[in-house]
Amino acid sequence: MTGTAPAPFTADDYRARMDRAARAAADAGLAGLLVAPGPDLVWLTGYTPPAATERLTLLVLAPGRAPVLVVPTLEAPDAARAPGAGALSLRDWTDGKDPYAATAALLDVSGRFGISDNAWAMHLLGLQRVLPGTSHVSLTEALPMLRAVKDAAELDLMAAAGAAADATFEEIRKVPFAGRTESEVGADLAGLLRRFGHSQVDFTIVASGPNGANPHHEVGDRVIERGDMVVLDFGGLKDGYGSDTSRTVHVGEPTDEERRVHDLVREAQEAGFRAVQPGAACQEVDRAARAVIEAAGYGEYFIHRTGHGIGVTTHEPPYMIEGERQPLVPGMCFSVEPGVYLPGRFGVRIEDIVTVTEDGGRRLNTTDREMVIVD
Ligand code: ZN
Ligand code: ZN
Ligand code: ZN
Repeated sequence: MTGTAPAPFTADDYRARMDRAARAAADAGLAGLLVAPGPDLVWLTGYTPPAATERLTLLVLAPGRAPVLVVPTLEAPDAARAPGAGALSLRDWTDGKDPYAATAALLDVSGRFGISDNAWAMHLLGLQRVLPGTSHVSLTEALPMLRAVKDAAELDLMAAAGAAADATFEEIRKVPFAGRTESEVGADLAGLLRRFGHSQVDFTIVASGPNGANPHHEVGDRVIERGDMVVLDFGGLKDGYGSDTSRTVHVGEPTDEERRVHDLVREAQEAGFRAVQPGAACQEVDRAARAVIEAAGYGEYFIHRTGHGIGVTTHEPPYMIEGERQPLVPGMCFSVEPGVYLPGRFGVRIEDIVTVTEDGGRRLNTTDREMVIVD
């Protein structure tokens, strides 16, 4: 994806986001924010540079000052077409000039700045060379909730991405599994996500039989057999917002144990979902799901956190994990995805994206959570 984000946001929307970010920076005791190309820049301005290059592109946000986007001169016309361009001014620099000196002229010579996690180290080092009195902190560490609470338009886009992922599942459950490789089914998933409007496919996990016991197994050459449990986990971006859902299907009739473990994960997922309430701490969602699995004696086989935030990326804060005391706020979107992974045998994961409302959670994935039998 290059150029501009397709989301239907106006310069006023981006102005409001940049104002909010600058105020949040001030509240956090920061002199400003330095935002490199990536999800933060997309969310704040709608701009993605035409190519990821070594040339410096950096949004400078400082409390009480107008936002400035530092861009290479040759990319200035692209930046000027970004949906948020009307809410900022451009400062371009030409090859052969020092982009860091140009940026330094916009900044206080001292202070602590939040900088995008994905900013290139060479750019941060260049800034530190010209502004030795400044220090830097990870933007995600300083302002983890900056993009976490979605507004109504963003929630509509999240719901549409979820519906597209659900439509993908409704189609994939009809395709033959037995006798085909994981890679072949994964290619089907990717094709369906694009057919239902995704511009970017981030992952298509098809983890069959023993591969299902590895939560991050993607796809491989294993031929799926009758009797396999198959963990499907797929998502990406549709109109700039993320989808991510998991269902675990079985090829033919399952054993009693497979059914029991699937039921257990489904109950854990339901318990995690029911723990979603405004004001509840993120860790309560994890605890609720985990308690169900632990009570059944499978606690040691649930080897990851219960969920992660999602928005303009498919993995971001807040995290549903023990120790995360961040309270849930209406408009937050995150996954609830407990799993059980039995080494060498099979795995089960069930995942929905959930958004927080005034009276609890609302699922953005609504396909069957009962075990689906495939051919
Ligand atoms: Zn089986
Ligand atoms: Zn997932
Ligand atoms: Zn997920």
